[in-house]
Amino acid sequence: MDRDGVINEVLTKRVKFVNKPQQLFFLPRVPEAIKKLNDSFDFVFVVTNQGGVGLGFMKEGQLKKIHTHMTNELKKQGAIIDEVVYCPHKPKAGCDCRKPNSKLIVDLAEKYNVDLSKSYMVGDTDTDIIAGKRAGTKGVFLGSYDPLADAVFPDLISAVDWMIEDAH
Ligand SMILES: [Mg+2]
Ligand SMILES: [Zn+2]
Repeated sequence: MDRDGVINEVLTKRVKFVNKPQQLFFLPRVPEAIKKLNDSFDFVFVVTNQGGVGLGFMKEGQLKKIHTHMTNELKKQGAIIDEVVYCPHKPKAGCDCRKPNSKLIVDLAEKYNVDLSKSYMVGDTDTDIIAGKRAGTKGVFLGSYDPLADAVFPDLISAVDWMIEDAH
């Protein structure tokens, strides 16, 4: 799954972008949703574009602190993220890891021996869905409409039951 806008708030009143751990506010019922996914799927990964690193708004070490904080807080509530991978490059760097490119997803699949055709990419932008499709996953869009997505839901907790049902 994507991170910003799926797991945590961005562009809300209290937080613009997450550049430090204190700026990470979980969206409603996210721990519960991830816990449900843990019960039905082998792995839950986070795949996130963090152009703020390349642009100089945040050091890579700070990003790692944010992710450690995020996974620890989730773990306290019984929700397991198996790995967080990210693209730290500038949005216009032309790298092959930034979504909508699929490298981060494909590399995870190789590392964990995951069947991408039985996997789902959950995101709140079209680039998430495109990255998933390029990698060979199904796409679950959080929002109101996406032309490529296999399913659309308002938030993660509403999406999990469909994913669990669809996967079995
Ligand atoms: Mg997002
Ligand atoms: Zn990159």
